[in-house]
Amino acid sequence: MSLNQLDGHTILIGLMAYPIRHSMSPTMHNHAFEKLGLNYAYLAFEITNDGLEGAVNAIRTLDMRGSNISMPNKQKIIPLLDKLDPATEMIGAVNTVVNDNGVLTGYTTDGIGMIKSLDDEGIDIRGKKMTMAGAGGAGTAIAIQCALDGVKEISLFNRDDEFFAQAKRNVDLINEKTDCKATLHKLEDQDDFKAEIDSAFIYCDATSVGMNPLEGQTLVSDPSWFRKDLVVFDTVYAPRTTKLMEVAEEAGVEHVFNGLGMMLEQGAAAFKLWTGKEMPVEYIRNILFNEDK
Ligand code: NAD
Repeated sequence: MSLNQLDGHTILIGLMAYPIRHSMSPTMHNHAFEKLGLNYAYLAFEITNDGLEGAVNAIRTLDMRGSNISMPNKQKIIPLLDKLDPATEMIGAVNTVVNDNGVLTGYTTDGIGMIKSLDDEGIDIRGKKMTMAGAGGAGTAIAIQCALDGVKEISLFNRDDEFFAQAKRNVDLINEKTDCKATLHKLEDQDDFKAEIDSAFIYCDATSVGMNPLEGQTLVSDPSWFRKDLVVFDTVYAPRTTKLMEVAEEAGVEHVFNGLGMMLEQGAAAFKLWTGKEMPVEYIRNILFNEDK
């Protein structure tokens, strides 16, 4: 279905957030629909908390197939939905809504996207230890999804800020509800941070450090903290090479990733929930970023 062939049967998918005009998701999904010949259209709507209830009702009224949800609505939407999938219930935030004949189910695909992006590179983190920093939206989705999907041990670091309580909640929930063993650590304890990275299979930075306005900064600046066989994953994808990635490369780390694959795969997971089809991820990567893997 070409973009100029929308017709009376076209199925609408939304994106409800504010601000949202900068989002790449409309381009991502509309090109994927076109490539696969699916009669869907994806549109962004500027929705704040105030307009959220009306917007969620509109999903049912307009018989939309669903929507992506972003800030500031990821938590506020929960009481407005009929169901949450179990991982999303633990994560406590929604980025995707699916409408099945008026029944709205909330999902979150960020953690799924992170794991899938590593699978795509032939890296399996199941049964291994992950040391990570960050317990905001991205960090929470990653920690809980990884614990549910079979990561054996997670050492979760956060600085002593307003997200530390969330970090504690994540660790408690993981220990209570999954087979993963999670421990909580303060980022301020640098000896502990170094030791936990040293004993991990993967180090994941899910903080905002490294992206604007913290571009050029990193939580690990000493290359000697990184073994060559450690996997280093930064959730940031703008800039494409972060300071953390530079430090890892200086250390000779072989597997160093930015968050681009995660971003594409979280979109692909939502696409699959709405359409039942696999998003042509490499085709979309090329359109959005003009680059192959
Ligand atoms: P958030 O605001 O919800 O959480 C921010 C986190 O960073 C918190 O844990 C906070 O304690 C930590 N932090 C902030 N400044 C810090 C500093 N100076 N030192 C140490 N820790 C600090 O943000 P979020 O939505 O979770 O996003 C976090 C990162 O994940 C961002 O870089 C974002 O670009 C990235 N992200 C990537 C994807 C993707 O698909 N690749 C998706 C979502 C978010």
